[in-house]
Amino acid sequence: MRYISTRGASPVLDFEAVTLAGLAADGGLYVPERWPTFTRDEIAAMSGLSYVETAIRVMKPFVGDALDEASLRDLCTQAYGRFSHDAVTPLKQIDETQWLLELFHGPTLAFKDVALQLLGLLFERFLAPRDTHLTVVGATSGDTGSAAIDALAGRAKVDIFMIHPEGRVSDVQRRQMTTVLSPNVHNIAIKGSFDDAQAMVKAMFADQSFAGRFRLSAVNSINWARLMAQIVYYFYSGVRLGAPHREIAYSVPTGNFGDVFAGYVAAKMGLPVAKLIVATNVNDILHRALSVGDYSCGSVSPTAAPSMDIQVSSNFERLLFDLHGRDGAALAATMKEFEATKAMQIPAAMREEAAGLFSSARIDADGMALAMRRAYSRSGEIIDPHTAIGLQAAWEADLDPSVPIVTLATAHPAKFRDAVERATGQRPPLPARISGLFEREERYVVLPNDIQAVEDWIAERATPIG
Ligand SMILES: *Cc1c(COP(=O)(O)O)cnc(C)c1O
Repeated sequence: MRYISTRGASPVLDFEAVTLAGLAADGGLYVPERWPTFTRDEIAAMSGLSYVETAIRVMKPFVGDALDEASLRDLCTQAYGRFSHDAVTPLKQIDETQWLLELFHGPTLAFKDVALQLLGLLFERFLAPRDTHLTVVGATSGDTGSAAIDALAGRAKVDIFMIHPEGRVSDVQRRQMTTVLSPNVHNIAIKGSFDDAQAMVKAMFADQSFAGRFRLSAVNSINWARLMAQIVYYFYSGVRLGAPHREIAYSVPTGNFGDVFAGYVAAKMGLPVAKLIVATNVNDILHRALSVGDYSCGSVSPTAAPSMDIQVSSNFERLLFDLHGRDGAALAATMKEFEATKAMQIPAAMREEAAGLFSSARIDADGMALAMRRAYSRSGEIIDPHTAIGLQAAWEADLDPSVPIVTLATAHPAKFRDAVERATGQRPPLPARISGLFEREERYVVLPNDIQAVEDWIAERATPIG
């Protein structure tokens, strides 16, 4: 499989190169040259396969010749062997039509582990024979950072610099990052929002005088390999609930549009997806974009679901690319204007095309708390604020009742204990795998919201090319 940039002006890459690259040099995101597809029979044959075997079938067309099947199996077995549930991503039934897909059984208790555990191993594998040192730079609203650091800590030939907005991640999230003291892990808190951090990372990749000195790579969901790993659990859960003989809907707590984009790809590949519900909190740019075509930035309001406190969703560009008929030059012009004006009106024809598969909902703090209480009273499930937004959107969705709705449970409730306790009166205990977190030493630097200061700090510590 070959990969092209959504803005049409970057070199075409193979899977190995796209995994190590991250953002394209023209400012776009890499996508496969075409969407691979499965026949109904091929999907039916996934019935009863283990998570790892499902992962191999789903990822193989994207990986191509970069890894043989035995190597891919070996990496998946290692990555998913670190999950605390045998099913890796188990399904749980909430009521007659509603299901939760628990994606939080990995080492850092959020769905980011599903992709990043594999990505860490892919980096190691692809770097082993090369004489290169990778400098991973990322921005996090909490969960990506902890999952990426867990996946990369102590690995040879990689340094990771993770930028988070100071005071805007939960104490558990911060400590999951800052208590990892491996010499190749560098935590930076900036005095700004997640969007500032994300914009900074984008600008660093575009700054040739900085980017040219290091072999930069990304672990944010702009990295294609991450999205690829997330397609797997749509198939795994869909087949268990009756696909390909039955349609399934998914409700996805959404921030950067990565997780729900993986669902879009699953649908493109042939999974019968009735609807993808894009659930947002009050930071609702995606809800406005999909419901009325208004893709314009406001300011970020901090909420109890911080991983969704986002105004610009970088992966939305991947959907826009398809909606622009995969015309990179046309999308580049659109994105240039968006970057200048911070606003975009999505033409009605494109919005209608998207509406065939996507719907959206905006869930405020009351809706979120209601869903937490209702999940607890109906089925005894304690759910986290992000999952609650997804579940509330699923309950509000106007779908044929014979279609099961799977809400992606994106974080373990213990990651957001205060918000869960406020809504339900239940304080979820810390699972054994992170007990001791509050006794460990922390290490991080606080820097101003200034790209030059952050670039200088990284440049002093990163390994230059050659
Ligand atoms: C990252 C994250 C999200 C948002 O996922 P996107 O891929 O950015 O849309 C939702 N919930 C939790 C808990 C997350 O960590």
